[in-house]
Amino acid sequence: MKTIKYIFVTGGVCSSLGKGISSSSIGALLESRDFIISMTKIDPYINVDAGTMSPFQHGEVFVTDDGAETDLDLGNYERFTNASLSKRNSITTGQVYEEVIKRERKGDYLGRCVQVIPHITDEIKHRIKSSSEKDADISIIEIGGTVGDIESIPFLEAARQFITDVGKDNVLFIHLTLIPMVKADEFKTKPTQHSVQKLREIGIQPDILLCRIEGDMDMQMKKKISLFTNVEEEAVIDAVNIKHSIYEVPLHFEDRNLTDVIIRKLKLKESKKDLKIWRNLVETIKNPKHHLKIGVIGKYIELQDSYKSIYEALNHGGINNNAKLEFIRIQSEKVKDDNIAELVKGLDGILIPGGFGERGIDGMVTAARFARENKLPYLGLCLGMQIMVIEYARNVLDFKDANSTEFDTQTPYPVISLLEEQEGVDKKGGANDSIIMKNTRLFSAYKTEKISERHRHRYEFNNSYKKTFIDKGLVIASTTDDGSLVESVEWNNHPFGVGVQFHPEFKSKPFSPHPLFSEFIKMVISSKK
Ligand code: GLN
Repeated sequence: MKTIKYIFVTGGVCSSLGKGISSSSIGALLESRDFIISMTKIDPYINVDAGTMSPFQHGEVFVTDDGAETDLDLGNYERFTNASLSKRNSITTGQVYEEVIKRERKGDYLGRCVQVIPHITDEIKHRIKSSSEKDADISIIEIGGTVGDIESIPFLEAARQFITDVGKDNVLFIHLTLIPMVKADEFKTKPTQHSVQKLREIGIQPDILLCRIEGDMDMQMKKKISLFTNVEEEAVIDAVNIKHSIYEVPLHFEDRNLTDVIIRKLKLKESKKDLKIWRNLVETIKNPKHHLKIGVIGKYIELQDSYKSIYEALNHGGINNNAKLEFIRIQSEKVKDDNIAELVKGLDGILIPGGFGERGIDGMVTAARFARENKLPYLGLCLGMQIMVIEYARNVLDFKDANSTEFDTQTPYPVISLLEEQEGVDKKGGANDSIIMKNTRLFSAYKTEKISERHRHRYEFNNSYKKTFIDKGLVIASTTDDGSLVESVEWNNHPFGVGVQFHPEFKSKPFSPHPLFSEFIKMVISSKK
């Protein structure tokens, strides 16, 4: 059997330093040397998964093919690498304790006192080990939170135990830290020294430091950090802010020999590097032919992270069409009949993302009407598709107060509603097959009839209105493979008006942009002309 090597990525000083992008970039770099990698995220919160967390708290909930509702970093892993991800690749304190307590109740511990060490740490180690694919050479595990947080201690302790469990040559610790600037131009290494001390208290000596710094890291600073942290100079690597795109990060680290240092420290076999696709990608991003303004109209608009995968998928569509996109984020609650024209002035297309709850719905309906009537390209995702249906019902079918029963249980026209068999069911989705009708915009995008996409919703297009909608010109572009549920709708005689009940954004990658986003951007460009 192959010996799997483990790389633990931790973060120090403060959160939001880009651990997810750094871990993903490390994955990409190791893949560029022909290694098979696995990627796992540990979130030390007590929630069992991210599914119940508000986007304000947590950012986007990323959905894997098997329907796991996970941290958005898994989205970064999927975009940067070929690692296959499932619910096993998202580990939380909630899952670990739930499992241990379940076993304790069954009496599986045979009367022993159940403790953090070894029972919780054993469960963590078991989950980490079973998270990697059988054929993986290297398993990258990102430990969320900041070193020094109380809740991450059991995970760091479990990671430390890997040193004796699998041998020092098979474990590597990479610590991402911050070198802040105080006064005008004075960089401070002390917070980094302290966060490394915190790790060493637990028994972890980091092998590599990635230092976020807004400026150049000179040799003297490197030497000093190395001296105080016991990390060799070559392994003290600067992580400066990247100018154009997150997809430059792997190249930046490669230029600083990060991959070679990892290979040497883990005693991996040397193999030739191939970063051509990354260099070409960055070249394309840096030299766009078109500049487009895309409005994103939603409820959680203030937080960039809430619609992370959507912005990325749009960017991928842009890359595929040589376009640089500027996002104009519009809070749906602010959209009214008398200001919509002003709000979307100068925009080349709009997108309405998914969401839950009533707030801001009418603003979205107003925006959808404007886009339909003014032939402004529109892409609706999940809730954004339901909005299209509600708008069409109210303004074309003349169904006053038509709504989704999610927002109005008493609506006279429940055009979106809960299926009876789904009442009381909490599960929202995962990947499902659907069938696309020919002669639709969707078919032009996918160029195939059968597709599989990820879902995360509960309410559905109400089939009792299907015929009325079709008669009045709304196109039903796809259904579930058994024909029972509407999966997408389109506007007739419109440059691009598409709403899908699923979440294509979760499956877009920079090297294989999602066809629907590519088609959307393509049509945005042509309707701008
Ligand atoms: N709130 C809607 C539903 O549950 C849409 C969900 C979404 O956009 N993800 O059906």
